[in-house]
Amino acid sequence: MSVQESPTTGDRTTMTSIQFHNTLSGQTEPFVPLVKGEVRAYTCGPTVYDFAHIGNFRTFVFQDVLRRYLKSKGFRVIQVMNLTDVDDRIIQKSAAAGVSIREYTDKYIQAYLDDRKSLNLEPPEHIARATEHIDDMVELIQRLTAKGFTYTSDGSTYFRISKFPAYGKLSKIDVAGMQAGARVDVDRYDKDNARDFALWKAPKPGEHFWETPIGPGRPGWHIECSAMAMKYLGDTLDIHSGGVDLTFPHHENEIAESEAATGKPFARYWLHAEHLLVDQEKMSKSLGNFATLRELFAGGHKPSSIRFLLASVPYRRQLNFTPESLQGAASSVERLRTFAARLRSGKFPAGASASITDRVAKAREEFDQGLADDLNTAQALAAIFDLVRDVNTAIDRGEFREGDAAPVLAVLEMFDAIFAVLRDDDAEKLRAFGIGGDSAAPGDAEIEARVAEREAARKRRDFAASDRIRDELAERGIILEDSRDGGVRWKRK
Ligand SMILES: [Zn+2]
Repeated sequence: MSVQESPTTGDRTTMTSIQFHNTLSGQTEPFVPLVKGEVRAYTCGPTVYDFAHIGNFRTFVFQDVLRRYLKSKGFRVIQVMNLTDVDDRIIQKSAAAGVSIREYTDKYIQAYLDDRKSLNLEPPEHIARATEHIDDMVELIQRLTAKGFTYTSDGSTYFRISKFPAYGKLSKIDVAGMQAGARVDVDRYDKDNARDFALWKAPKPGEHFWETPIGPGRPGWHIECSAMAMKYLGDTLDIHSGGVDLTFPHHENEIAESEAATGKPFARYWLHAEHLLVDQEKMSKSLGNFATLRELFAGGHKPSSIRFLLASVPYRRQLNFTPESLQGAASSVERLRTFAARLRSGKFPAGASASITDRVAKAREEFDQGLADDLNTAQALAAIFDLVRDVNTAIDRGEFREGDAAPVLAVLEMFDAIFAVLRDDDAEKLRAFGIGGDSAAPGDAEIEARVAEREAARKRRDFAASDRIRDELAERGIILEDSRDGGVRWKRK
């Protein structure tokens, strides 16, 4: 593969063209952003009425892999994520709890942000809270009204679908048999029934409302995303992503509102992540197979295994989440960490081998091609595990040289820039959730320091000191393993 200037980023990089499956066209297409070198992306965030469940996190991990991949290709990514902190469920639940909407949602927003951190999800450039953007939504509704796209009924404002002929272009829903004027107030409605939807909802008795130029009330769900996306990213975005459930009505309605107001395309690429299944059943609260991250942590599962599993299945395939698949993910992560430690601490003969140089180049190319192919993470992972196997074999045969370690470690670094599971910090993260809360248990940095001290003691042949450190760490649950290659690695019991 030749190195030349990329047409999309302007950087000197390999010439793999990035392909994404675009729900709008129904095709897999080359990805070229509107502005060279920059990607403006909007991702539908959570409705913060409860803890997010593992099905939600499948989408959030996909969005994180997407942004990390684009960054690794040299793009400047500007990502906006909304927090829906007002909707029917929030209003009901906060009233039932006897607290304000703000107080009720603050708790779940913090929980959501903590959850994201535990899965190494990078923070988006803008996190937009719906209730802090009411003015932007009202203004957008006023623009739609000025252009004749709305009507009011009982104090609520509705979008008139029949005025927007392109309605249905994303979800391919058939609007032919639609009854003109049939409307719906709830945000989440019948999957195969196009209706005029509420942009602004009049308050029901006793409900919280905002006093605005378009009357008292609160925004509908769809207008939130349109208003906040365009506020931070302009009229036309490069990528809009979300779970496949959101295609209709949510994303269809976002397109209608935004394009009716601006007369311009709203989002150029629509990427949708498939369902997560639990034991082959669609994850949902009603089925009772609802698992929050915290429940999984409490059940002894590590953040890194969960992230690895969620990232490992290409986003357009259904992912079956089972204890066995989590177990498999945990051993994959362990295998990679052990391999990285072997490379870092191994003592290899001097020199470098041409065969490893070639092997590394092949792994890089396959990894890159996998991700460029609509984020085929399974293919990218296969490239890494093939390399791990081949390098382990070379080490065992004594064919691996000192100078080979750095290029292989660089491949692992490239892998980890996207998958983010190599750092052995699960115990630390779980402690932050009050799990395994043994305050005597040392953190990674402390262990690394003690291991280095022990190495120094061994070098000066102070074996008493070296043994003392080993015993002390063992008492605190840390096992040191002296490898055949002459290095040391540690793990928690
Ligand atoms: Zn949205």
